Amino acid sequence: MADHTFRELETAAYCPRKLYYRRRDSPPDVPAEIEQIRRLACEYDRLMTEDAALLSAPIEPDPATVRERLRAARDRLGMWDALVTPAETDVYLSGKDARGIAHKLVETDTGAVPSLVFAGKPPAQGVWEPQSVRLVAAAKALSWERERPVEQTFVEYPAYGVIREVEVTARRCGQYRRALRIAESIDGPPARTDNDAKCEPCEYREQCGVRTRSLRSLL
Ligand code: SF4
Repeated sequence: MADHTFRELETAAYCPRKLYYRRRDSPPDVPAEIEQIRRLACEYDRLMTEDAALLSAPIEPDPATVRERLRAARDRLGMWDALVTPAETDVYLSGKDARGIAHKLVETDTGAVPSLVFAGKPPAQGVWEPQSVRLVAAAKALSWERERPVEQTFVEYPAYGVIREVEVTARRCGQYRRALRIAESIDGPPARTDNDAKCEPCEYREQCGVRTRSLRSLL
């Protein structure tokens, strides 16, 4: 039985102390607005062709930018149809170490690979490290279930029209193993992260006693 959820490992990579709070308080439900953004990941063709759908969608950049990015992704990625109309969605995977939901299973030449959909903003390139840990967790769980290597994943940021291929590299696997070790070792509140930018959006910042930049600027 896999001990950790994909989300726990993502949180461990973000901030070990946050994982401690999550376990103690049990994780919050996923807000409806986030579900709404995630649903856009199955609506790309409509967003590219129907103005009304694009204009009413919960997107962040201007509509023309989102449409342009989606078209570029369609031209760049070989398996667009498989990505837009995946064989399976919200698939529960249970691997040796971790279990959780892959938002899509995308059929490729080498078999199905996981795709995870995030409501937030993408980095300029690639994927944020905690999300990369979650992608690797999903790839490893799928690999465990299907008894074959899974070396490719996708990450989608539909509110920004960004879809990227992410390979399961040795470096990403190292980050995943580090997150596993953190998740296994927490038995009291770990030290706070020294990265202010992580505390700013963290829902535990008040109980954590972190004074964020916006609060400091008021004082
Ligand atoms: S406020 Fe900062 S240190 Fe505290 S749990 Fe959140 S990210 Fe970690």
